Amino acid sequence: MEFEEAVTEIIKRTYNAKSFRFKRPDGFDFKAGQYITVTLKSNEKKMSKAFTLSSSPTEKDHIEFTKKLTGHEYSNMLDSMEVGDTALMKGPFGKMTFEGEYEKIALLSGGIGITPMISICKYSTDMKLSTNIMLICSDKTEQDMLFTEELEEMKKQNPNLTVFNTLTRASESWTGCRERICESMIIRQLPDYAERVFYVCGPPPMVDSMMEMLHNMNVPDSMIHKESLIGY
Ligand SMILES: Cc1cc2nc3c(=O)[nH]c(=O)nc-3n(C[C@H](O)[C@H](O)[C@H](O)COP(=O)(O)OP(=O)(O)OC[C@H]3O[C@@H](n4cnc5c(N)ncnc54)[C@H](O)[C@@H]3O)c2cc1C
Repeated sequence: MEFEEAVTEIIKRTYNAKSFRFKRPDGFDFKAGQYITVTLKSNEKKMSKAFTLSSSPTEKDHIEFTKKLTGHEYSNMLDSMEVGDTALMKGPFGKMTFEGEYEKIALLSGGIGITPMISICKYSTDMKLSTNIMLICSDKTEQDMLFTEELEEMKKQNPNLTVFNTLTRASESWTGCRERICESMIIRQLPDYAERVFYVCGPPPMVDSMMEMLHNMNVPDSMIHKESLIGY
């Protein structure tokens, strides 16, 4: 489906990430984890990029995507958008989806790769699914952590949701984990990992290293869904 919609809300998530909300068009159906392409026009120039929806299929009034601002051309065009400005969108696309079909899942996100995981967590929470979810988020610093308040809120509503954060370049005051996501962390946090279906999302090097790790742990491809945020 292709549609043009005006921005209804812009939410500053961190120092370098913003969410853009649009009215959800009639008949626009998607699954948690899917993405859209967003085309922006400035003067005679048109540029398109892919973005995972960070909203959930249960949110009927709006759709949302979240962009890490890079200072590059497309990013600056998006960053300068105001409520009422329009974008051309197309989708949904993508096979890394979740509709409640598994009893236990593990979500491994790197940086902005949290966007589909938020959609999956929100969907599971709103649908009151019994799926046990462990979300492991890897970020650089405290300032890079996204959707922390939203996840806190979801955890209050969803007893089946656990969130584990690790920061690779945390400040001295961070008392949490500082490792990259690795085999020993998975074994520690998810002793039942062999029973879980994995979802992996992040920049390509992160996804590649997670795939190597999971293969070393004998997790079969049939138990892994992944999305590489190509372009990072
Ligand atoms: C399926 C899918 C889903 C995605 N979902 C999201 C999402 O939810 N949120 C999100 O933010 N992104 C997402 N992406 C990535 C997104 O589409 C963009 O590629 C990304 O945001 C970077 O776009 P940009 O225009 O800001 O940067 P670009 O200009 O495309 O730059 C991307 C990278 O290229 C390098 N680069 C480019 N130009 C230069 C230069 N002149 N000098 C030095 N380095 C340079 C940099 O490393 C930079 O980080 C997704 C991608 C895919 C394929």
